[in-house]
Amino acid sequence: MRVARVTRAKGPFEVAELPVPEPGPGSVRIKVEACGICHSDSITKEGIWPGIQYPRAPGHEVAGVIEALGAGVAGWNAGQRVGVGWHGGHCGYCDSCRRGDFVTCQVALQIPGISYDGGYADYLIAPAGALAAIPDGLSAVEAAPLMCAGVTTFNPLRHSGARPGDVVAVLGIGGLGHLGIQFAAKMGYRAVAIARGQDKAPLARTLGAQHYIDTEASDPAAELLKLGGARVILATATSASAMTAVLGGLGVDG
Ligand SMILES: [Zn+2]
Ligand SMILES: [Zn+2]
Repeated sequence: MRVARVTRAKGPFEVAELPVPEPGPGSVRIKVEACGICHSDSITKEGIWPGIQYPRAPGHEVAGVIEALGAGVAGWNAGQRVGVGWHGGHCGYCDSCRRGDFVTCQVALQIPGISYDGGYADYLIAPAGALAAIPDGLSAVEAAPLMCAGVTTFNPLRHSGARPGDVVAVLGIGGLGHLGIQFAAKMGYRAVAIARGQDKAPLARTLGAQHYIDTEASDPAAELLKLGGARVILATATSASAMTAVLGGLGVDG
């Protein structure tokens, strides 16, 4: 099989030909149909995460089909469509796991593309506990980015306490923000897109934003307050100054 991997921290990618791997106990082999490219893949490329063993193939936005089951895997079948995201396995018994917070596992958190080879390959071995079923109506290309970028925006919104009709702003209309706006609109919030300039305005409205705030043309905090103040601001632009500029737009209890 083909694997696009990094041979050392800060090293170049190489495409290697490797044997198709066999799944061990508790794991499955997935035939990769699509893998999103996430900024966090650079963690593997640049060697930022401690203890990465090289060579290593990045990729934690995987969508594919189960091809083979390891010993002891229950509840999954060969031929089933599945995805794997940043959470690629957990211990099951640490304090975090006992709270059901597997992604903060303290003992054996596994991340595809960091702890083991990820989705930049024809095949991937992943623990069965890391799999998510993909519904038939969703293509692999559509499903793959949801495994990281989608979860990253969907989870904060659904746990935010915002209710239908509330003003929910999404700061930044990029890989995360374009998903955040769609979730916010479909969850029934008054979705407000915030970005620099007018370039992103048509896209934001197509994605479901009811309002668009151009931070170059107006004070985003003041504009949010005109809408009643935001219950939630989902900040997807990794800029402290951009986040600071919108904080004043939060409403009471926002
Ligand atoms: Zn990611
Ligand atoms: Zn754990």
